[in-house]
Amino acid sequence: MSGQSWDHTIDWLVVGTGAGAMTSAIVAHDLGATTLLLEKGPLYGGSSAMSGGGLWVPNNHLMAGVGITDSYDDSLAYLLAVTAGSVAEKRLRAYLDQSPKMAKYLCEKTRVDLVSLPEYPDYYPNAPGSRPGGRALEPKAFHSRNLGDEFLKMRETAIQELIMGRVSMTVAEARILFCKTPGWVALMLRLMAGYWLDLPWRFRSARDRKLGMGNALVGMLRASLLDRGVPLWLESPARELVVEDGRVVGVVAERDGRPMRIRGAKGVVLGAGGFDASQSMREKYLPSPTRAEWSAANPTSTGDAIEMGLAIGAAIDLMDDAWWSPTTVVPGEARARLLVIEKSLPGTIMVNKKGQRFVNEALPYNDVVNAMYAKNTADAATVPCQLIFDATARAKYPLGPLLPGAQQPDWALPGRIRREYLKKADTIEALATLVGVDPAGLRATVTRFNEQVRSGKDLDFHRGETVIETYYGDANRKPNPCLAPIERPPYYAMETYAGDFGTKGGLCVDEKAHVLRENGDVIPGLYAIGNCSSATMGRTYPGPGSTLGPATTFGYVAAHDACGKG
Ligand SMILES: Cc1cc2nc3c(=O)[nH]c(=O)nc-3n(C[C@H](O)[C@H](O)[C@H](O)COP(=O)(O)OP(=O)(O)OC[C@H]3O[C@@H](n4cnc5c(N)ncnc54)[C@H](O)[C@@H]3O)c2cc1C
Repeated sequence: MSGQSWDHTIDWLVVGTGAGAMTSAIVAHDLGATTLLLEKGPLYGGSSAMSGGGLWVPNNHLMAGVGITDSYDDSLAYLLAVTAGSVAEKRLRAYLDQSPKMAKYLCEKTRVDLVSLPEYPDYYPNAPGSRPGGRALEPKAFHSRNLGDEFLKMRETAIQELIMGRVSMTVAEARILFCKTPGWVALMLRLMAGYWLDLPWRFRSARDRKLGMGNALVGMLRASLLDRGVPLWLESPARELVVEDGRVVGVVAERDGRPMRIRGAKGVVLGAGGFDASQSMREKYLPSPTRAEWSAANPTSTGDAIEMGLAIGAAIDLMDDAWWSPTTVVPGEARARLLVIEKSLPGTIMVNKKGQRFVNEALPYNDVVNAMYAKNTADAATVPCQLIFDATARAKYPLGPLLPGAQQPDWALPGRIRREYLKKADTIEALATLVGVDPAGLRATVTRFNEQVRSGKDLDFHRGETVIETYYGDANRKPNPCLAPIERPPYYAMETYAGDFGTKGGLCVDEKAHVLRENGDVIPGLYAIGNCSSATMGRTYPGPGSTLGPATTFGYVAAHDACGKG
């Protein structure tokens, strides 16, 4: 579509409102460009707002403050090792050059306030150049009063990141509560009091006005956009890219039900998320079986930007991959819940249809789902599989939607969970029969697992032997924070899916976030960041924050390039 007049003209047109898109809009504004963000849905923030808000930024300016040193060379050695050739080295180098600058810029020039998490390790501690913590940054808590009426237009935090589905916390606070480190009771009381005593707001909304994790990050970015007067249009999906003389010069969007031609004089950046919520694209590209309802990610990410890029000849890559995580689907909840911690906790195992373990459950979530697909056979299905645990684990730990039984026994669970979700039985064999798993197989697995636990070593899968595995274990459990016998009835099973928190495949981009054609040529005027671009991290997940780190970094890079400061 070309040769027609424009309904609206700005310099830098940002499609999407995740953290990367917002970063790009802020930076372009600060470089003197007029900017506009388009959001398809009625809420802004996408998966970024739902997320844990972590940003993996090697060699960042905050690490030294928590006593951890880093270097470009170590970070590069690590990234080259873990991405194993799945990404062009120049993109990795660009990431390592630019991500620390991006983080510093946000901290110094915007409302974004980050801290380094000293205990949150890289996911592959045995790879060269890894760090036991510090590379993961998270936003501090942020109060929604900074957003005024814009607060309730932000997509809500994923339910699993809230205490009792309501009270927000930071990752650092979650760690204190989970590990019951000294002061945890006072912290819990403070968080609860802050929430319940927030009157009269408490009568207006169940949402906590103190924002943590992804809501804090997106809240800080949104407040920074408000400070600058940058417009963000809700319910205004981009539908088509406008190309003139081979250059992308704008989009056709929809506003108030009508098409609107919007010109981006310096360029268009697509930050419109992946295709996690599109069942048809999942079936076309991802391994089978796959279901959109297994995803924990944003429900309006239906691959629009990827389709728009394909329509003008862009190349795509990594479309068969996702940011995988085991998930559980809870009746009545809008999105699946990630099972990130549960699978590492003592007294839990994951089994296939034959009742056999098939993976070191405490591996990074991405790897566990890769194993689910790799081991999925007709007679020993692993998609879905079952997370098995006993009464001791149930009593001590939060597991999916179940609060620790000591606080919320089975009889106190919501009726719908008890009727439609909870699977329990008094014997291992009865539990296996209940969930369609081979009873003799499960019995043999549990017997062998318990023997190994008593020896303190998981000889079959080596669970709990690295720092990232024990990070999600029970720090108070010795000698191995990830191991305890499954021996006290009743026994429980949680159906576990090959879920994700976003897809990885998308438009091919170079180290400046330019979208590329199949022959490697740049499509002038078009940039892609976040999950609509093929992942900077290739087929792996190097450390906490490996999707938001690249999304924000390449949003920053794209804005500089388009404004002639690249
Ligand atoms: C529970 C959970 C926890 C997570 N924790 C972390 C974490 O701690 N660290 C980390 O790095 N990652 C985390 N992730 C993953 C991370 O949130 C996503 O990978 C990331 O937010 C993707 O960013 P994005 O900008 O590509 O998409 P999004 O943040 O989803 O933003 C895309 C936006 O574009 C909009 N859009 C779609 N189509 C159009 C269109 N046609 N026109 C206009 N707008 C459109 C969407 O509605 C959406 O608002 C988590 C995800 C979940 C679900």
